[in-house]
Amino acid sequence: MMAEAKIVFEGYTSIDANGRSCSTVTLVRDEEIAMIIDPGTLPDQKVLIDALKNEGLSIDDINIVGLTHSHMDHFRNIGMFPKAKVIDYWGWWINDFWKKSDGNISENISIIKTPGHTKDSITFLVKTERGKVAICGDVLWKNDLLHKDPFAEDLKELDKSRKKVLEIADYIIPGHGKMFKT
Ligand SMILES: [Zn+2]
Repeated sequence: MMAEAKIVFEGYTSIDANGRSCSTVTLVRDEEIAMIIDPGTLPDQKVLIDALKNEGLSIDDINIVGLTHSHMDHFRNIGMFPKAKVIDYWGWWINDFWKKSDGNISENISIIKTPGHTKDSITFLVKTERGKVAICGDVLWKNDLLHKDPFAEDLKELDKSRKKVLEIADYIIPGHGKMFKT
């Protein structure tokens, strides 16, 4: 069985949304895993609750929350999912308990380090029926491969990470836009 990755809320940036900024929010499902990647800021949590309802899920069904990096527009709603453990660059968080991760979440979901936008940036790779989907956070904000990231901590590292992600993936879910084919 393959996993599925689906955008449940399409993000935008303050530059094109008049001061509003929210990450793209992705739902990843793989057997017993129901995972939200980057729960964003959201105009209202109800928007995401309703989107999950359309998928037959409640907030209690989400058992993992993944964070591509620790910027507020990506993580403000981590606490929305009371049953979920959280995984980020540093590893797993189960309530206040921390343990390292080996980069594998399931047979079909893994993590690679993709620094540049921030030092703690990671990309989630998901094997799906249509190919490998990379949920890369702000390695790419949207379908704009030449975009010069004004907030990048290290542009050289970012460039390497972009190349890596584009090489590995068949589809990209960027930090603040729609999914696109590589
Ligand atoms: Zn960011």
